[in-house]
Amino acid sequence: MTELPRPISYAELDELSVTEIAAVRAKAKKVPGLAEMGVTTVLDLVTTYPRRYLDRTRQEAIRDLRVGVEAMVIAKVARIATRRTRGRPPKTLVTADVTDGHGFLRITFFNQGWRERQLPAGTEAVFFGKVDSFQGRLQMNSPVVDLIGDKTGRIVPLYAQSEKHRITTWDIGGWVEAALEKCRARGLAEPLPDAVLDRFDFIDRTAALRGIHLPSSMTEVTEARRRLVFDELLRVQLALVLRKRALERIAQGIRHDVSGELVGRFHERLPFGLTGAQRRTIDEIKADLAGPHPMHRLLQGDVGSGKTVVAVSALLTAVQGGHQGALMAPTEVLAEQHFSGIRELLAELRVPAREGEGEGTLFAGTDVERPLRVELLTNRTTAANRRKLAEALRHGEVDLLIGTHALIEDAVAFRSLGVVVIDEQHRFGVEQRAALRQKGADGATPDVLVMTATPIPRTAAMTVYGDLDVSVLDEMPPGRTPITTRWVQVPAGTDEVEAEQPVWEHVRAEVAAGRQAYVVCPLIEESEKLEVRSAEETYERLDGGELAGLRLGLLHGRMSSADKEQTMGRFRSGDLDVLVSTTVIEVGVDVANATVMVVLDADRFGIAQLHQLRGRVGRGADASSCWLVAAGATPDAEARLTALVKSTDGFELAEVDLDLRGEGTLMAERQKGRNDLKLASLRRDREWVEKARAVAFELVDADPDLDAHPLLAAEVALFLGDDEADFLLKS
Ligand code: ADP
Ligand code: MG
Repeated sequence: MTELPRPISYAELDELSVTEIAAVRAKAKKVPGLAEMGVTTVLDLVTTYPRRYLDRTRQEAIRDLRVGVEAMVIAKVARIATRRTRGRPPKTLVTADVTDGHGFLRITFFNQGWRERQLPAGTEAVFFGKVDSFQGRLQMNSPVVDLIGDKTGRIVPLYAQSEKHRITTWDIGGWVEAALEKCRARGLAEPLPDAVLDRFDFIDRTAALRGIHLPSSMTEVTEARRRLVFDELLRVQLALVLRKRALERIAQGIRHDVSGELVGRFHERLPFGLTGAQRRTIDEIKADLAGPHPMHRLLQGDVGSGKTVVAVSALLTAVQGGHQGALMAPTEVLAEQHFSGIRELLAELRVPAREGEGEGTLFAGTDVERPLRVELLTNRTTAANRRKLAEALRHGEVDLLIGTHALIEDAVAFRSLGVVVIDEQHRFGVEQRAALRQKGADGATPDVLVMTATPIPRTAAMTVYGDLDVSVLDEMPPGRTPITTRWVQVPAGTDEVEAEQPVWEHVRAEVAAGRQAYVVCPLIEESEKLEVRSAEETYERLDGGELAGLRLGLLHGRMSSADKEQTMGRFRSGDLDVLVSTTVIEVGVDVANATVMVVLDADRFGIAQLHQLRGRVGRGADASSCWLVAAGATPDAEARLTALVKSTDGFELAEVDLDLRGEGTLMAERQKGRNDLKLASLRRDREWVEKARAVAFELVDADPDLDAHPLLAAEVALFLGDDEADFLLKS
């Protein structure tokens, strides 16, 4: 009896160099370029998917084109020419007349001088774009162009090519086809259990790879894509669910005492009642804290939704049970702001003195109390103070420690760290969270709450933070008035000062009515020094000009903490009318009397950042406004500003942001190793994210190390990198 050959797995394909393929060796000079494109193994090659397909069945004749409609034509270049336009600044204009034998179409490109080399007369190419009419003739402006050479076939896959490395879509297509041909005899191993294949009616992997690379119809592409998207999303979800379950399994948590009085007393002393969402979230956290597993929870809430109260409630739960709490912020300024804000919230709150602190009294039921102690630790803390602080922490004399990542340094040891809150803002990675978790005493893992003020769409949160449980503060505290947002356009070449006039008039009117304003100066990412200088210049200009006579203050990141605090204090108490600042006020500043936010060069900021800034106003009962001053530079910037004008809902804006930036950025901040989402899109494939997550939970909960699914386990390991795979799959 002859044994059937064993099908080939992804892991095996990942061991094979692309040079194993004769067609690749035949163009050996291109191999380094291919490597630079991220393709070194056969697995990389077969998972390099077409960017688009040329579907000849949808090709249109030039004479049938309709103005205003997108169309695809295949045509030959009759003539092509380049000239400079007059206007200011001058542009390079490339014009080509193309024909399919039954009519002419004019193609234009601005500032793409290389097109003349790409499309010499006689070249046949595909042009895809919207049809316009210009001076009575049909025209396509900057269409998508694909050279088709002598390709035949109904559906032609088009791959991303590299001009630089002279690797064409035909090179890649040919190599992929050769690779798939080599796999043909053995076929590709199927990692998915039959039940899952059946449930979603998926084609098998061999068919899926052929269908995506060598389709004979677009329906085949759709089926193949559906299957491969699921594979990608399932790998990500398996990794996240494995991580989640492994931590629950191996880490010993603290069962916090949630019946104490401290949290209740804190709530009673607040000058407002909690919102329903705050109550619900605090309860969710309380249940986690009381349980045996360490909490890993993400708290999402828009600017102003009241996350601080929730975070402090969690921290105080630790304190009331005799543990300590820590809050980690991404920057010094934020840490300092949290520190002063929380100190104020907790002023005069007292805690039961620990055994030994009050003349041998016992811990429980004691009436000996001492003030709650909150401390700050950042890189600015002097060495001497650091030593003192370390001592006090070790002895449990400090209840809450607030700081930057200085908190996770080795020298910082707590007596008993119970709850950690990380104000993430997308800036902390998995590793840093892990480091903090190690700070728990006696092998117990502290509970972790990650806060983010940048709302993330649900499916993105599932993917980026899929190892965490999620709470959402989806209700704003009452008494806020909506903010009117305007985009003040300064068209290039026009007088900036004139365009800004209405802004400064509005600021003056509000100040005259007893209210206050913020002016945020241009963000200069490359250099804090330049940013500070620009803030100083803006301050001078406004102080001596548009806002002369008002009381202006200046705030920036290079001022000493004391100076910053003093300026903030004066603004808070109403001694200053206008605060001119860099983005240091992004988060945490809370002055209800401020009703105007002006952001200069707003096109330099991201959606989330602008939304944060805008959240600084609209905190009181008076109507507030936000003025985004910007030349509508790039289409992206324009889309961002328009979105902000239209919506004040952080979750809605987050969707727009995801659309504009793509998930790449989100993922890059969280996942190291192989970028596994080559085909899947968190926007387009929302429903599949949820399905993949559900399947991941089913599989892992039935079989925690995926012993029954070695192929899946191996694929997850490919994605995760060795260390984490060892940890998750072999623990
Ligand atoms: P976030 O951190 O989510 O942006 P904060 O925690 O800074 O929001 O709260 C914003 C403001 O709302 C603060 O002034 C806070 O005191 C206030 N606040 C919080 N919760 C409530 C509530 N339930 N009712 C009224 N005001 C609240
Ligand atoms: Mg806050």
